[in-house]
Amino acid sequence: MKALVYQGPGQKEWVEVPDPVLQKSTDAVVKIEHTTICGTDLHILKGDVPAVEPGRILGHEGVGVVTAVGDAVANIAVGDRVIISCVSTCGTCAYCRAGVYSHCQSDEGAPGVGWIFGHLIDGTQAEYVRVPFADTSLHKLPDGVVPEQAVLISDILPTGHEIGVRNGEVKPGDVVAVIGAGPVGLAAITTSSLYGPSRVIAIDLDPNRVAQAKHFGATDGVLSTDPDWKEQVLALTDGLGVDVAIEAVGAPATWGMALDIVRAGGNVANVGVHGVPVTFPIDRLWSENLTIRTGLVNTNTSPMLIKLLAQGRLDVGGYISHHFALDRILDAYDTFSRAAETKALKVVLNA
Ligand code: NAD
Ligand code: ZN
Ligand code: ZN
Repeated sequence: MKALVYQGPGQKEWVEVPDPVLQKSTDAVVKIEHTTICGTDLHILKGDVPAVEPGRILGHEGVGVVTAVGDAVANIAVGDRVIISCVSTCGTCAYCRAGVYSHCQSDEGAPGVGWIFGHLIDGTQAEYVRVPFADTSLHKLPDGVVPEQAVLISDILPTGHEIGVRNGEVKPGDVVAVIGAGPVGLAAITTSSLYGPSRVIAIDLDPNRVAQAKHFGATDGVLSTDPDWKEQVLALTDGLGVDVAIEAVGAPATWGMALDIVRAGGNVANVGVHGVPVTFPIDRLWSENLTIRTGLVNTNTSPMLIKLLAQGRLDVGGYISHHFALDRILDAYDTFSRAAETKALKVVLNA
């Protein structure tokens, strides 16, 4: 088969590789129909994720048809159309039993690491992929869900929902700010509407992303390049600051922005993947009664999000800005990595 293989920082190739086969009785093999590229794949290509070794097939999002299942797989059958979760879940370890799938203790990849596709084992940017723990890591695609849109369930919708909105404990009437209106920030914006905030403010340095966010549930947009961006945000509150600040970039500057706009007693939810330490001004903030949460997506709300998608209650079709044939994946990477110029949000590859 053909696959997108990481060859070290800055290098990737669409090349012929051996077809994946069942290795354990709990595995399935899935023929990929739709996959996509994540901001995290760009981090890998920059060399920010050294655990990814040359030769690894990238990608942790996908929808496809099951072509083989191991003897111990009970609930997934050959021919099922499935959504592949970006986090693999053994279902039996202490963390999985507590719903904290992101820290699954199985020895697929490494114990304690639930995100293994395109990281510690071969991923989904390929014609076929081996899926460990098929019963607990695949979701059958229900009627009513557009297969291409279902790739948004693999990672970004549960990430924005669980690590942004749920960790931020958004509640009716809240003013919510989402810093970073990339696909993950947009997912936080869209899913926050499930909890009845009075305002959702999208903050980004890219005017296109701020404008797009208003199509997906943001009531207001603020350009972080404006010198008075903070005053603009405070003016959208009662003057005291936002109830919930969601950081969806992963940079020291945007972490600082979240701390600058949250009100006393408010919540900060960090979603961004950080490559360097940040400053935490505890001397200023010790008395502020803040709640600060971090997290790696568990995907434990994916079944709920799939139901909402099937009922047309999550309007996310517009997240997909570009479509490419799977064998044009190098062009798709080029488009996605120049989002400010190409206005790319999610680029979907179709087999
Ligand atoms: P992205 O790169 O597409 O989007 C980031 C957005 O932040 C862009 O729109 C960019 O213009 C904006 N931005 C950058 N610097 C800014 C600044 N100084 N002020 C305001 N906006 C700024 O990435 P994405 O795919 O949306 O992912 C967002 C983050 O979430 C990444 O760090 C990604 O690695 C992370 N992530 C975390 C998890 C998790 O489980 N915690 C899961 C998936 C992705
Ligand atoms: Zn991702
Ligand atoms: Zn587990």
